[in-house]
Amino acid sequence: MELTDPQRRTYENLIGTGPRPSFSADLPQRLRDRIEEALAGLELAEPLWLGKEKLSDHTRCEGKFVATILGEGPPFEHSPRSAAGVLLHKAIEVEVGSRDGLDPHAIAQIAAERLREREQRFEDYWRELDAAGRDDILMEVVRRVVLFQASFPPLKDLRRELGPIAELPVRAELLGGDLVLSGRIDLVLGLPSKAEPTRATRIAIDLKTGGAHAEYPEDMRFYALLLTLRFGVPPYRAASLFLESGEWQNEDVTEDGLRHAADRVIAAASTGAALLKEREPKLTPGYYCAWCPRSAVCPVAELPAAVTS
Ligand code: SF4
Repeated sequence: MELTDPQRRTYENLIGTGPRPSFSADLPQRLRDRIEEALAGLELAEPLWLGKEKLSDHTRCEGKFVATILGEGPPFEHSPRSAAGVLLHKAIEVEVGSRDGLDPHAIAQIAAERLREREQRFEDYWRELDAAGRDDILMEVVRRVVLFQASFPPLKDLRRELGPIAELPVRAELLGGDLVLSGRIDLVLGLPSKAEPTRATRIAIDLKTGGAHAEYPEDMRFYALLLTLRFGVPPYRAASLFLESGEWQNEDVTEDGLRHAADRVIAAASTGAALLKEREPKLTPGYYCAWCPRSAVCPVAELPAAVTS
């Protein structure tokens, strides 16, 4: 298959074609035991759900963390930005899964129709848009699909080799369901090995429209932990790929990295349980105050001038 230089770089250097590592078969159970033993006796009135956003909130500010757990703030409504984001993910699903060679405009259109059928919030938002508003969002998605196609080898043609899955929802239940870890991974590539079931054959990829961020490696370690607990085998690599540049931030998965991710879950769940019970949150203001549900009432909120005036 003939590839452009950026596609070849992604294929050879990110996805990689070399030998894949093996992990010990009992690793998932050891990780599960590590979390469950550390959190034994955790008192929760309701199951605690943790995903990458809540784990990030925990490291940013306990006030924002507990506000997110409690579902404070106005109900979610789509904006042009969020609509383009969710539509892009659906478009990647169409791009990876469709049998025919579709152009980016057709991909965006099909994605919008599918999303309208399946997500009521998107349908409500889309219905209220005028034609120009819809065109703006579709064009933004077309731009990103073009960047995706420029970054990856044609995944349709590599379906047998890579088994691409877009938008993979993954959930792991611990402590008898009291603690639920969940996430939706933008792109997972790699088929399990029947001959060697404990060989790591998958890579998890998050698609990003901005630049690199210090929190992304932690997100990737969390996805690696989720996949390990759910599939019983870790991915060999996890990465954030930046669509504008085609560059990426990646990390090979190791037992140390997975233990680190498990410890981050333990710390967040312990703090969450204490905050839900009685403890006052420690407030740590930062740039994220701008989208904190408590920003209007928080005594130490750091808000940009445009928000406070
Ligand atoms: S406004 Fe800022 S400091 Fe206050 S709770 Fe929210 S994130 Fe924390």
